Amino acid sequence: MKYNIEKINEIGKLLVEVVEAAANQEGKEEIRIGDIEMVLRESLQAIGQSALKQFLEQADGEAEAEIKCSCGGKLKYQRRRKATIWSVFGKVDYRRAYYAGCVCGTGCAPVDRRYGIEPGQVTAGLAVLIALSGIKESFDEGRKWLKEYLLFEVSENTVRAETQKMGKLQLDADEELSKKCRTKSVCKKREHSQVAAPDILYGSVDAAKVRIEAARSAGKSGERP
Ligand SMILES: [Zn+2]
Repeated sequence: MKYNIEKINEIGKLLVEVVEAAANQEGKEEIRIGDIEMVLRESLQAIGQSALKQFLEQADGEAEAEIKCSCGGKLKYQRRRKATIWSVFGKVDYRRAYYAGCVCGTGCAPVDRRYGIEPGQVTAGLAVLIALSGIKESFDEGRKWLKEYLLFEVSENTVRAETQKMGKLQLDADEELSKKCRTKSVCKKREHSQVAAPDILYGSVDAAKVRIEAARSAGKSGERP
């Protein structure tokens, strides 16, 4: 992805003001590079939360009175409904158009469906990091490791759940692929990588994609109106 460097520099300049103000408030006599780094990291995390919220709310656009349901029926606009996700920047709350009232009984938030969001859950990006932290260490060790890197806490239960979920997705993906391989003879490359045990989640990025696709094809937000 390419970024507009001029805009990035402008944001950088603004960020310097934020960092200086925060450092002055600390009132320390001597500020070292580690202090500046930490203030910057915390600020960037807050910016990430704010930007993610704004992105999702802007992407939502104008609400329509009615939309098509995945069952073929019709969904009626209800209101802008609040949702929460746990992202790589921490907890993010946002409001988006929510539709319900179809005969099938499911509701739908189009913006969640478009981006593969499962409200109340960790995002695919955070799920990968959590699963990677849970592979090599104990789940509690993984939790501590994550706090240092992400600057927010994830519960031991979440580390366990996400690591196991990702492990299962990886196994399913491997199984699906070997099924295809049985019918085709074009899977030489994959056969080599099968030497690695599937429960070692080096393919967890693939698993995250599987997860996003699964959410998309489910065609609903997982919420009840
Ligand atoms: Zn329906």
